[in-house]
Amino acid sequence: MIFGWPKTPNAYVSVTDQYVFVFVCAFAYFAFFNACYSNPGIVNITNAEKVNKLFDHDYLIFSPKMCSTCLIDKPARSKHCSLCKVCVAKADHHCAWSGCFRKTVLYPFPYVFFITVNNCVGHNNYRYFLLFLVGTWILCFYMTYIVSCVLLNEIKIHNVARYLVIDPKTNQRRQITQTEVYLFMAQSQAVLTALAVSGCKWQNSQRIF
Ligand SMILES: [Zn+2]
Ligand SMILES: [Zn+2]
Repeated sequence: MIFGWPKTPNAYVSVTDQYVFVFVCAFAYFAFFNACYSNPGIVNITNAEKVNKLFDHDYLIFSPKMCSTCLIDKPARSKHCSLCKVCVAKADHHCAWSGCFRKTVLYPFPYVFFITVNNCVGHNNYRYFLLFLVGTWILCFYMTYIVSCVLLNEIKIHNVARYLVIDPKTNQRRQITQTEVYLFMAQSQAVLTALAVSGCKWQNSQRIF
């Protein structure tokens, strides 16, 4: 956004795209921070009875037993998280990438706080976690499209495709090739080209599914 925004709107990116992009970003971050900071469904002595009524014990995987740490009757499908040190209802997993800015013994270095969501994903916040995954997926595709359009516009307004270059082998002037256009853009718009190329690479890798 920081590098691409000043170059929009243009011939390829409309004002509508700008608003849609901001909306998609806000959606992904809204879901992300909710997944980070919401209560995942902590089971304690006051709500244990209520949570126990949510799911029946199947006596195969989940049998009635007590959590030796929390000293409560463990509800079916709950799990004691050794990182959060609580029992979590309908526990899915402890997400190290969803606890941004939260301090835990696992992340003692301040700079790591900026890139992690360190929170459990359970009954109360798994919807936000799924929205975060979907939002990030949409954002990745949409960002690649917008950044590619911005680069295309840069190539057009600077007439890069018509540049003449001196061939190092023949020492003669010739038309710039498509690869050289990409290399030129990588040099003049390094961040945007890196974003577009990494987005395309990632999307290509998803095609195996
Ligand atoms: Zn517990
Ligand atoms: Zn946890």
